[in-house]
Amino acid sequence: MTTAASTQLTLTRGHIDTAIAALQPVHRVMLRLLLLPYMDPTPEDIAFMAQERKEPNMRAGGYVSQAFGGNTAIRREKINGVPKEWLVAVEYRAKEFQARLREHQARLNLLIAFYSDYLEGLQQEIDATAQLLSTECELSQESLDDLRAQARVAPLTYALKKLAARAEKQEVEEEDYRRERLSLEYQAHLRRHNRFKKRLEQVRQERHSCLASSLSDEFLAEICGTSTGSVTGRRVKAVQHYVTALVATVKASPDAAGLAAAVNAGIGSKLAGGSKNEGISSKPLNLAVDLWSQTVQTLAAEPMPSPTPKPCAHPEGGTKGLTAKLRSAATYELGEDEEVKIWTLTTQCFNCLTTLRSAQQDSGVAGRPFAEVLGAAKTRAAMPHKEAIEAAKEQAKAAEEEHPLDVDERLRPFTGDDAGQTGGRGSDRWW
Ligand SMILES: [Zn+2]
Repeated sequence: MTTAASTQLTLTRGHIDTAIAALQPVHRVMLRLLLLPYMDPTPEDIAFMAQERKEPNMRAGGYVSQAFGGNTAIRREKINGVPKEWLVAVEYRAKEFQARLREHQARLNLLIAFYSDYLEGLQQEIDATAQLLSTECELSQESLDDLRAQARVAPLTYALKKLAARAEKQEVEEEDYRRERLSLEYQAHLRRHNRFKKRLEQVRQERHSCLASSLSDEFLAEICGTSTGSVTGRRVKAVQHYVTALVATVKASPDAAGLAAAVNAGIGSKLAGGSKNEGISSKPLNLAVDLWSQTVQTLAAEPMPSPTPKPCAHPEGGTKGLTAKLRSAATYELGEDEEVKIWTLTTQCFNCLTTLRSAQQDSGVAGRPFAEVLGAAKTRAAMPHKEAIEAAKEQAKAAEEEHPLDVDERLRPFTGDDAGQTGGRGSDRWW
């Protein structure tokens, strides 16, 4: 297979830049727009687009008010015969789209890093709990298997609350408490593992389709201020010329099918606004090896500038309560019902994701020595003594007057709220 040559090739940014430099200006401009998350349009690109402007809104300077508050000095100035306001507006819009695309990718990268470490640390917790159940509580392998099999449907929140109530009244033997507590924790961790594994798969797929997409013709036309029809034709030509130039640059010799695959990948699926969660299938991810896909993968592997901070999108954004929830989510302590409530918004909010990721890194849950995880699980499963429960209640009461949202957090070790459906809503929501 002649395409094998291209699979072994290590593409660099140097190759890509050389191939783009060999193109005609019109195709160079288009290429940098198709690769906008990784490339800044040059001043020449901006001038090229500004000269071509067609839309009347643009000529009237409609967009400049957004960019520069209608600065009249800019309006009058001309550079090489092009009004400076046109240049400013083109650049402004390109940067805006670039920022949106970059934020989307940065968010997905952050999520993937978080989920990967989360699952790594969680596996250790699962192993530690299983070990304690068999050594300290003398549970047989069969009983462990039963726990595992029932994890999906077990009413964990209810069981944990009941266990906590019995401990509070000292109605349970220490040994029984430990066994029950560890069993419930084991099942809660197994459920978490399923949930987060699925989330990781989903976000990997989202990133995959994000890399396989570029801006739609409509958005490209909006940046260029030209018609969609002319963009469509240019996109195809630009990709064809680029692939040919890249083949020459890297001295590859793909066959006709390999070339067609690269061109198709370049024209390929088009992303609406750069932030849509579309086209996610359950198919396994296969990294494409054509020259266009390799171009994108090479560029996407480079570090990306951090997005500009935006306010948190949560209704309770910025409160201590939310920060505490995120912290306990990072360390496997947030209840499933609470987690489900905040998760969708959290994954969309770059602010909260950053908090989540830092909490995870600070706590060092990934890559901890196993003995440490084991010790912590053992301590957690010890029956709380009456005095400790009373002291915690007092503390929680005092805290409630100060910060109402912290109470759950302070009582968590005693209510044991770490997973489960609430109120028997059925088992279909556990993952
Ligand atoms: Zn947020």
